[in-house]
Amino acid sequence: MKRKRVIYVFAFGIALIITLSLAAFGSSETLMGNTTISGYEKVFDQRSMNLSVKPGDDFYEYVNGAWIKSHIVPADKSRYGEFEIVNDRTFDRVKEIVESAANNTSALKENPEQKIGKFYFMGMDTATLEKQHLDPIKDELKKIDNITNISDVQDVSMQMMDYGMDPFFSMYAEPNKKKSTIMIATLTQGGLGLPDRDFYFRQDNESIQIREQYLTHVAKMFAFLGDSPEIAEHNARIVMKIETKLANASFNNVEDKDEVKTYNKMNLEELQAFAPGMNWSNVFSFLGRPEIAEVNVRNPSFFKELSTILQEESITDLKIFLRWKLILATSPYLSSDLEREHFIFYEKELNGQQEMKPRWKRVLDAEYKAIGEDIGRVYVDRYFDSSSKARMQEMVSNLKKAFRERIKNLTWMEPETKKKALMKLDVLDVQVGYPDEWLNYSELEVNNDSYVMNVIRGSKFKFHHSFDGLDKIGKPVDRKLWEMNPQETNAYADVNKVLVVFPAGILQPPFFNKEADDAANYGAIGSIIGHEMTHHFDSQGRKFDVNGNLTDWWTSKDADSFNKNTGILVDEYNRFEVLPGLHVNGNLTLQENIADFGGLTMAYHAYKLSLKEKPKIINGFTGDQRFFLSFAQIWRQSETNEGLRIRALTDPHSPNRFRVNGVVFNVPEFYKAFPSVKLVDKLYRPENEMSVIW
Ligand SMILES: [Zn+2]
Repeated sequence: MKRKRVIYVFAFGIALIITLSLAAFGSSETLMGNTTISGYEKVFDQRSMNLSVKPGDDFYEYVNGAWIKSHIVPADKSRYGEFEIVNDRTFDRVKEIVESAANNTSALKENPEQKIGKFYFMGMDTATLEKQHLDPIKDELKKIDNITNISDVQDVSMQMMDYGMDPFFSMYAEPNKKKSTIMIATLTQGGLGLPDRDFYFRQDNESIQIREQYLTHVAKMFAFLGDSPEIAEHNARIVMKIETKLANASFNNVEDKDEVKTYNKMNLEELQAFAPGMNWSNVFSFLGRPEIAEVNVRNPSFFKELSTILQEESITDLKIFLRWKLILATSPYLSSDLEREHFIFYEKELNGQQEMKPRWKRVLDAEYKAIGEDIGRVYVDRYFDSSSKARMQEMVSNLKKAFRERIKNLTWMEPETKKKALMKLDVLDVQVGYPDEWLNYSELEVNNDSYVMNVIRGSKFKFHHSFDGLDKIGKPVDRKLWEMNPQETNAYADVNKVLVVFPAGILQPPFFNKEADDAANYGAIGSIIGHEMTHHFDSQGRKFDVNGNLTDWWTSKDADSFNKNTGILVDEYNRFEVLPGLHVNGNLTLQENIADFGGLTMAYHAYKLSLKEKPKIINGFTGDQRFFLSFAQIWRQSETNEGLRIRALTDPHSPNRFRVNGVVFNVPEFYKAFPSVKLVDKLYRPENEMSVIW
């Protein structure tokens, strides 16, 4: 299922749409003389560099140009860089885990490996999948067919929600933003088959083409369900009509990230009066939570419009809409014709990915969503080196120290605000490797009936029992449950919990390398640690206080200074051109850009704190140079133009080129490290034009 809650993940933005809930480092030859290379020094890949480009004209290209040129995007990916390389490495390991679990028929029923093995086995059994075709969802299709009135529409759509699909909207539990110790029910916009609301209205050629491709795709899916070509095409237009109305009332991707705008607490009576098209009391009872008395409605105008749609659209059209939502959510887990058609629109046409991933990787993607922490438990046992945790904690402690000093020395912030900022930094909780409490999957059944039903049961289980499951509503916030599997190559910040999390999956080279010196590690994982920490002080994160409550703890003068400096970043990124005529959205990416900038700054100063002696010159590079080179290298990446375009429009992270170039030229120490960067260079920024934030 589409990510609902706004958390600040480090990479991998929204690339995929609603489905069911869910470096090789070369031995470095030296370019600078014949220094002997030891394992210790083998962390920066100099063959990656394009030395024909001046670092001041394009630092990303200077560091990574040769690598990008020699690494075309594999046909089964829409981008290829360090995150994909590390992911592939982890996937190979996980494949061994699930295959041996699948082959171990004697495993006891309560053994987690029994479940992960069976899920994998059912996913890989393509002969059964082909034979079953649409059979596994026949009952659900029948329920939609049998709808005769609006109350049936509501019941069937609730049944689909219970399966973890979100036909009209999403619902989940999250910490109450203004009382961050208690979980509250949250309602948020949904129901769109295109990446976000603007895709329904943009008038450029690419957007018009995407809408045409989408209509064709939806019609093909209806044809699979047995509709004649004319009816299928008609039905696709009905879907487009209803989705366009929903899109029109939806927040755009900048509004949707606004923590103040998305906090609108209502009690049940208010909600019922506000959006009478649904019987909300019945909704909550149907979902097993009849006692819900208050909710946060992230986008009230959406629910008003949804209410109108339910009252005004014909039952026939609403049935068409629900049929589409069912096949959209299940097609990736059905027979090859349906799965392939889903791939063609969502991966090939939208993202430029030429071929499907191998089957085993697609099954693992689904399994990560359904039962990912059980895989994570085995993964962590086998592959996570606990000594990494100690090294990480030492780095985190230096990052905190550096952050503390930076806050103390800020010239734009007044003492009383500084005091509160320092208190918040002090309580910032850092969790590394794997969660203290594992999700208990004992209620999740994995059966032999069909692959898609296992996916649905996994999705339903998550909807009710995971970190944001409905069973958490009204309960105290559980700080131990994670929102990410420990084997994932990612990290996140949770502003209500004042928490940052670094899963085992990202603690691998090139991000984290036990053999590397401090310059390399602080440039890579250090900047990632700093990135997540800075999220608590970015343009939205700063609105949460030491207890994770949404409240204004800033003086107005400090808020003005902050906004002035972040405005410089907005303008800077708005000028970056991704593809001809397409620019980065400086507002959409602001939080991530602040985090990238703050992260690199903090990591640099933490690196200096870590130094016990003057760093060696390795391969001709000083310690400071290796710090910045190592930072830039983790972002090297090739990508398809289609994928780049979709991400520029939807991903809150800037394209990788600008995650590097957007920040280093705002860091004064970068110019000291690379004295050849001069005023005449394209990206040079005089100190009085640099943004100063953290
Ligand atoms: Zn981030």
